[in-house]
This record gives sequence, structure tokens and C-alpha cells, in this order.
Amino acid sequence: MKILVNGIQSNLRFSSAHMIPGHESCGYIHGHSYFVDVEIEGERSGEFQFVVDFKDVKGYTKAICDELDHRLLIPVYNDLIEFKDFDKKKDSIFSLKKRHTVHFKVNGKGYSLPGVDCVFLPLPYTSAEELSRFFAETLARKLSETYGSLEYVAVCVNEGIGQGAEYRKEL
Ligand SMILES: [Zn+2]
Repeated sequence: MKILVNGIQSNLRFSSAHMIPGHESCGYIHGHSYFVDVEIEGERSGEFQFVVDFKDVKGYTKAICDELDHRLLIPVYNDLIEFKDFDKKKDSIFSLKKRHTVHFKVNGKGYSLPGVDCVFLPLPYTSAEELSRFFAETLARKLSETYGSLEYVAVCVNEGIGQGAEYRKEL
């Protein structure tokens, strides 16, 4: 059986800034009011014969939204982003967040931002496509700790009404 959670109606939203390095128009810092729809298929189980408890799905998804909300989303593994004093192959992403100021360049454009204003993601882009994969994998990992009979977790990250990307994580 399948369960569906509607992001607008369940308040699974976040407002963030991002940019798509190298893209003609999206290469500039701009923002979206995102919302996140979730679809989970699996066997019903346990005392209440749920696929998953809605409270868990909404709680875990909201936690990811809250982490991204009101921040600039930075895709650390984007080839065009060059960080100062940070080796993408060796250094931990967590060390960036702790920095007072993070310096990086994109095609010669220089950025200096407070670490606390940013979320550093282990992704090549912060497109709807990559964010949906990030949400689906994070959510699937978390739900798998409790639920053993799920078939897939699919997440659609919408950049606004009528524009989103869905990623399905098979379990
Ligand atoms: Zn955008």
C-alpha cells in the first residue's frame, strides 16, 4: 500500500537561496519557496497496520526542511566552486559550517559569507533534482531504522507551484 503526504497542506516547506554555477540565469543567487511531497510504498505492519506512521514521515521531512530553511544552499561538490583553504577530497564538510567566514569563487566571481548563513551539502548542484535525491535518501535512511518492509521512498521537491523534481529511493 502507498501513503502520500502533501507538502503544502502538511507544511513541509522551506525558503532558501541557491545558485546553479555556470547557468546563464540561475547562476546568480536567487531564492525559492520550496515545498516537499512524499510518497512511500510498503507492506502494512505492526500493531496499527500502518505503512509508516504519518507523524514519523512528517517529523523527519520537516527536520530536513528546517535545516535548509532561510539559508544559502551550497553544493560543495560542484566542479566550478573553488573554496579557499578547503580540499574537497580530504576535508570534512562539517568544518565549513564552523568557519566564521567562508570564501569561495565561481568562474572568477568571489563570495565571502558567514558559515552560519549557509548549508553545505554533499551535492554537485542544489537543483530540484539533486535536492529531491538528498531528501529521499536521507528520509529512507531514517525510516529504515524503524520500518523494515518499505519498497521505496519518493520525494518531490517543488521550487514553487507547478515545478518540481521527484526522486525515488528503492529499498
Ligand atoms: Zn533556482
